[in-house]
Amino acid sequence: MNLAHPDVDAKAFEHYPVDALMTITNRPRAVFTHGRGSWLWDSQGRAYLDLVQGWAVNTLGHAPAVIADALTAQAGRLIQAGPGFYNDRAIALAQRLAALSGLERVFVASSGAEANEGAIKLARKFGQVHRGGAHEIITFANAFHGRTLATMSASGKPGFDRLFAPQVPGFPKALLNDIASVKALIGPATVAVMLEPIQGEAGVIEATPAFLQELRALCDEAGLLLMLDEVQTGIARTGDLWGFRAAGIQPDVMTLGKGLGGGVPIGALLARETVSCFAPGDQGGTYNGNALVCAAALAVLDVVDTPAFLPSVRERSAQLRQGLDAIARRIGSPPARGRGLLLALDLPEPDQATRLAERLREHADAERPGLLINPVRAQTLRFVPALNVSADEIEQALAMLQAALR
Ligand code: PMP
Repeated sequence: MNLAHPDVDAKAFEHYPVDALMTITNRPRAVFTHGRGSWLWDSQGRAYLDLVQGWAVNTLGHAPAVIADALTAQAGRLIQAGPGFYNDRAIALAQRLAALSGLERVFVASSGAEANEGAIKLARKFGQVHRGGAHEIITFANAFHGRTLATMSASGKPGFDRLFAPQVPGFPKALLNDIASVKALIGPATVAVMLEPIQGEAGVIEATPAFLQELRALCDEAGLLLMLDEVQTGIARTGDLWGFRAAGIQPDVMTLGKGLGGGVPIGALLARETVSCFAPGDQGGTYNGNALVCAAALAVLDVVDTPAFLPSVRERSAQLRQGLDAIARRIGSPPARGRGLLLALDLPEPDQATRLAERLREHADAERPGLLINPVRAQTLRFVPALNVSADEIEQALAMLQAALR
C-alpha cells in the first residue's frame, strides 16, 4: 500500500509553534495538513485511516471533489450577501431540507450549537405566543446539545451544571427511555421536550423507537413541542436520512449540523410551519444563510439524496457491526451498539478506550498507517467513519483494531 499523499512534502513542515492557539482541549502532537476520503496525513507525511472524520462531520470523507468544486464555483460567484437579503443558495437549501424532512420552515445557522440555541429560542417564543408564557424545555441526563451557555444548560453532561455557573434556567432533566420521568416534570411552565434520537457524546445511547413514539403521543396530549437534536444523527448517519425515521414519528422541530456541510461549518433549525413563530428581529446572525456554506450543503445533499446512498451506508454499517461484534465476543464485551455508521464498542478495562485510541494513532510511521478512532468514554470507542467509507477500509480498520487488542 502506498502511504504517501502526492502533495505532502514532509520536509516542508517540521516545526509548528502551537502556543498561539488558545488551549481548549488536550491535543496529540500530530499536525494534520492533508486529507482525502477516509485518509488523513500529518506534517511528517504519516498516513492515518480516519474513523473520527472531523467528529462525525465529514459525510463524504476528507476533501471530496463534489464539495471542493461546489465551494470553488460558489466562491467565484457569491460568498455572502448578508442575512438581510435573500440569496439563491439559501433558498435552494431551505426548499431542499423542507422537502426532505416535512418540516416546512428552515433557519440556516453556522453550527449545531447555534441551531439548538435557535430551537430553544423558538420554543420560548412559541410559549410566549401560544402557551401563556410557558418556557421550560425538558431535556435529558447525559444529553449533549452544544457549548453555548443555553445549550450547555440544556445538556446533561456531568459537570456542565457547575462549569460557568449559573446556568441558564428552564431545563429540567428527565431520564432517557423512561417516560414516567418525563411525565413527572411536566407542569404549566413546560413548552417542549428536546432530545437526541441517539445520544452520541454520551457514548452512543439510543432513544428506543418505543420511547420516541411515547414521547410523540405525550407531547400531542400535553400540547408540547417535540424537538429533536439531529446534529449528529441527521444526514444519513444512522442509515436513514433522519434518526427519527426508525421510530416512524415526525418531530415539530429538528436541528442539524455536522454532516449537513460535510466539514463546512453550517447548521440548520427546521420547524413545522405552525411552530415557526419568530417575528422580524427575533433571530439572526451575520453568517446565517451564507451562500458559500449553503452551496456546500447542497453538494452534500446531491450525493446523500440518491437511491443508492442509504443502502450503501447500511451495508457498511452491517459490515462494521459484524466485525465489532466478533471482536466483542473475543474480548468479553457486550455487542456493538448504535445504528448506521454511528456505532460504539465498550471495552472490558477502565481507560482501555483512551489508551487504545492513543496506541492506534501513535502506530503511524513511514511504513505503517495509524488509525484514528474516538474514545468517546474512557472505556468506550465510537466509530463514525465517512458515510462513503469503502468495504476495504472497514476491513483494514477492524484488522488494526484487532491487532492492537491482542
Ligand atoms: N448536538 C449534538 C447532538 C452534538 O453531537 C453536537 C456536537 N458534538 C452539538 C449539538 C454541537 O454542535 P457544534 O459543535 O457544531 O456546535
